Amino acid sequence: MDEFELIRDYFDRKGEKHGVTVGIGDDGAVLTPDPAMQQVQVIDTLVAGVHFPPHTNPADIAYRTVAVNLSDIAAMGAIPRWMSLALTLNDPSAQWVKAFSAGLFAAADEFELALIGGDTTSGPTVTATVTVTGEIEKDMALLRSGAKNGDTIFVTGTLGDAAAGLKLLQRGEPNDDLSRRFLRPTPRISTGRELTGKASAAIDVSDGLAGDLRKLLAASGVGGEIDIDRLPLSEALSNNFSCEEQQNLALSGGDDYELCFTAATEAVQDIAGITEIGVVTAATGLTCRRDGDIVEVTDSGYRHFK
Ligand code: ADP
Ligand code: MG
Repeated sequence: MDEFELIRDYFDRKGEKHGVTVGIGDDGAVLTPDPAMQQVQVIDTLVAGVHFPPHTNPADIAYRTVAVNLSDIAAMGAIPRWMSLALTLNDPSAQWVKAFSAGLFAAADEFELALIGGDTTSGPTVTATVTVTGEIEKDMALLRSGAKNGDTIFVTGTLGDAAAGLKLLQRGEPNDDLSRRFLRPTPRISTGRELTGKASAAIDVSDGLAGDLRKLLAASGVGGEIDIDRLPLSEALSNNFSCEEQQNLALSGGDDYELCFTAATEAVQDIAGITEIGVVTAATGLTCRRDGDIVEVTDSGYRHFK
């Protein structure tokens, strides 16, 4: 299978797509964006052995590569529109590429995203880079920098599942509910859209809640206090890990792709699937409490002050 057959057979799907004047097949794509909207662009690379175990199902690799990009689009409050794919493959079988393409289009179709081009190369390590461009109403993008003293801190969904799922995959004891949260994260596109004009700041949780919330607070020039006992945990996580492990995974495990945002509580009271976990404070830094006591949270978890 040469590069051109591969593109034709697995990536070049015909059909009208929103704003795509010229798609795959020429030297570049020609887009006709909505002149009333601003664009949000994101990019993320996944490398075999670094971001996913080397023998991961190619459909999951592809789905995940699209989903992690869409999570950034969600955190900005934008509508996903166009995607490019740069793929480095190591002597792939047709079956491998077919499965990859199926996972890619499963995510693309779910979120109405058009594949408009890409690049295909051969190399020693399987690597997938996706860029996504989204659209958003003028000056409505959700930024990290708008949190204000007195705002409430919220998260979507449940935390810690993806890191737990990866741990179980690596131990060779995959748990369907948890491992799926790692392999096929759910980008919170519709919640991101609902938050525009309501949240004061937002970030997606890719590196662990504590670290990512610290980034949001620092960008806003404020601090925050969260209550570890209020972190939303799934039943699957509770059933498979000790209480302390659950809380550590929820605070510091990566790959959740949930949204963490700040807002006045009354502005977001009608939004489903969110949990209040703390408040924004004037003093900088993040304070975490457990049973009322302050605990120190590092990148690999928390420990009590001595
Ligand atoms: P060029 O040599 O001009 O960069 P290519 O031969 O690499 O063009 O690609 C031909 C067409 O196929 C282009 O439209 C490119 O965007 C598209 N393409 C290449 N690889 C991929 C891929 N993995 N997924 C989607 N489109 C691709
Ligand atoms: Mg060219």
